Amino acid sequence: MTDGPLEWLALARGTLDRVALKRRDDAWLDTAWKDPKTRVVVVQDGRVLVTFGPSPALVFVPPGRAPDGDRWLLGVDDAGTAYFGTPGPLPAIEGAEPAGLRRVGALLGDRDSGLLTHVVALEHWHRDNRHCPRCGAETRVESAGHVRVCPADGSQHFPRVDPAVIMLVTDEADRILLARGPQWPADRRSILAGFVEPGESLEQAVAREVEEEVGLPVRDVRYLGSQPWPLPRSLMLGFMARTDGDVPLRPDPEEILDAAWYTRAELRAAIDAGELVAPGPLSIAAQLIMRWYGGELPNMPAF
Ligand SMILES: [Zn+2]
Repeated sequence: MTDGPLEWLALARGTLDRVALKRRDDAWLDTAWKDPKTRVVVVQDGRVLVTFGPSPALVFVPPGRAPDGDRWLLGVDDAGTAYFGTPGPLPAIEGAEPAGLRRVGALLGDRDSGLLTHVVALEHWHRDNRHCPRCGAETRVESAGHVRVCPADGSQHFPRVDPAVIMLVTDEADRILLARGPQWPADRRSILAGFVEPGESLEQAVAREVEEEVGLPVRDVRYLGSQPWPLPRSLMLGFMARTDGDVPLRPDPEEILDAAWYTRAELRAAIDAGELVAPGPLSIAAQLIMRWYGGELPNMPAF
């Protein structure tokens, strides 16, 4: 097993400069919006237009063809081209079809995967945060889509992200722990995960979740990488942790239907036999498992 951080994460590949300092520069924003080279990605219910073929790519429209309404500045590329997101009905463009993160997040190139992740996260946040959490007044959008301000009390509200830890737990024999959640298909297994609670560090969250879900104490909690998961607003923080001795697994029936240890050979055999479906490569779970496994898992779907 390599000892470094995760090398590739599908939704952590964005290449644009987010130019956060331009978000309040109305003259710059106005000029960028009037520039016909500016590219707009329209998002509706988590989906954008994509062309398929050998390499899937986002379909942009010039500002003149974008729906009216909010304009969210997503960033600028090396050539100086600006990219905006805007919510609204997807335009009809021949050869393009709607697709969301789960379908194309791992297939798009680095720039487009980053754009899709950013615009979907913003769409979810704006959709769910129209009113001030203090007084209930309807808020207005500022900072090119990255702040909402309450006109009644002046409070500013920034996009929310919910941190969630996900951890590959190994035992003394270097087996990994895989479990099945209550809502999952019978053959689906993955590693443990859970949301960070208020007043808790990431390392404490890892230890608490493993203890709660399967009754195991862990040590050597190590951070390996992160990726956004805006479905609707998580940030997945990947860890590994170890457990000692032969502590019996005590799955919490509320959260875990069953849990078991796997060697590499046992995991390969279970997948080959069709008894186990591992997470797809879009997820950080798959990347953590592959890092331990030492390469791609058998029967890995393309996405
Ligand atoms: Zn308010």
